[in-house]
Amino acid sequence: MTIAPDKITSPQLTIDGKSQSSDELLSVIDPSTGEAFIEVPAASLEQLDAAVEAANRAFATWSKKPLTERQEFIKTLGQVVRDNIDELGELVMREQGKPLGNAKGEIMASLRQVEVFGNITLDPEIIKDDETGRVEVRHDPIGVVGAITVWNYPFLAAMFKLVPGLVAGNTVIIKPSPYTPVSTLRLGELLQGVLPDGVLQVLAGGDELGRALVAHEGIHKISFTGSVPTGKAIMASAAPTLKRVTLELGGNDAGIVLEDADPDVIGADLFWAAFSNSGQVCAALKRLYVPADKVDAYAAAIAREAAKVVVGPGDQEGVTAGPVQNAAQLKQVQRLAQAAIDGGAEVVFEGEVPEGPGYWFPTTIVKGVSEGNALVDEEPFGPILPILTYTDLDEAIARANDTVYGLGASVWTSDPDAAIEVAERLEAGSVWVNQHPVVTATIPFGGVKQSGVGVEGSILGLKAYTNVRVVNIKR
Ligand code: NAD
Repeated sequence: MTIAPDKITSPQLTIDGKSQSSDELLSVIDPSTGEAFIEVPAASLEQLDAAVEAANRAFATWSKKPLTERQEFIKTLGQVVRDNIDELGELVMREQGKPLGNAKGEIMASLRQVEVFGNITLDPEIIKDDETGRVEVRHDPIGVVGAITVWNYPFLAAMFKLVPGLVAGNTVIIKPSPYTPVSTLRLGELLQGVLPDGVLQVLAGGDELGRALVAHEGIHKISFTGSVPTGKAIMASAAPTLKRVTLELGGNDAGIVLEDADPDVIGADLFWAAFSNSGQVCAALKRLYVPADKVDAYAAAIAREAAKVVVGPGDQEGVTAGPVQNAAQLKQVQRLAQAAIDGGAEVVFEGEVPEGPGYWFPTTIVKGVSEGNALVDEEPFGPILPILTYTDLDEAIARANDTVYGLGASVWTSDPDAAIEVAERLEAGSVWVNQHPVVTATIPFGGVKQSGVGVEGSILGLKAYTNVRVVNIKR
């Protein structure tokens, strides 16, 4: 049973523990219809100021609570999310477009953040303790964190930031993507009275609100997930106040299949590496390199899995993939597909999409393109995969690395030595072997080169929400 879109009530902003509306509204589109299904308040600059003031006020007490006490709050937060998984899943499905089961899966996956950071320790590191003295390295909260998220996993991205941010002792103001603000706003409402006022605030708004958040003097760190150009703009506008930044940006991940691999064994995994969430995954497989003499076998094996996919609205029974989330992204995917065709690519698989409105793009696999073609050089962030060929492994590695991006990469082989040898030469924040991608709360994740600054996940991701304080005692 799903909620009819016109029955969804508009969640409000959360500022200082209370709901607030706004004079300005933001229309949110259901990507499976292309029609707005809800209007939510867009925060004004005055509301941003009020949220920053409340966050700084709340920081004074939240940051002083023992870690374990903050973790109790986080566990309650997790329980609230769990208790409301059906509603939150519906909202993610409606605003993002993904099938309902996957949307609920996104909410479930976000609870890993609670499990991991709700139980983690952050003890001082003692780097010297002898008769001459003692040196402790402590990890203090930074202050108010501005968290800015994106539309592919709206709820997961929010939880990736707010859970470790709060556990570390900061207060958090989160600004979801204007395309997908609904589930994050609803989370803010659900947590009113659960977290102390001002500890977590949710402000919906467009890019201008993001810019104001980054420039605000009362905010001390920005944690951002989104595109490379926006990441660069954020780094520049964080400079005057020397805010700490964590930037999780785009990627154009390569996967290299070695000679020994078997297309029939790995074909399905290669497909899902590229096409999960309709290809709208920062670290999806976006360029696949296979041995030239096996290109047809790989194309056929991946296409076999592609043929099982049912693209359609997320609330429809049997649907396994949704639309592209927004019109601008659809245009980008269409442009890159056209560039591939114009460059002589052969379409080895093209799936079906529903008739009528909505941001539909068929599951598409092409071969016969190479570097220099926009589909290979740029990040599509949609349901299309180019299969490239190589004859020399060194050359394949060089081509995989010949990009400004460095988010993820993968090697596919049953030879563990060869896997490590290639993995060590790929320029990426994560290199996966026989899988792509794996992103979870226990493992650091971040990009090298222009794919980002810093990591999320694990103790390293938690420490990214802290300042180091050294206490150096002479005895
Ligand atoms: P985007 O950069 O346009 O927008 C992301 C967010 O930034 C939105 O909330 C937006 O309102 C805000 N924003 C825009 N301009 C801003 C500015 N100047 N200052 C502050 N905030 C601003 O992102 P997009 O292009 O819609 O998203 C797709 C990109 O995100 C892809 O490149 C994808 O790879 C990347 N992504 C990366 C990760 C990761 O973890 N590395 C995860 C998901 C998506």
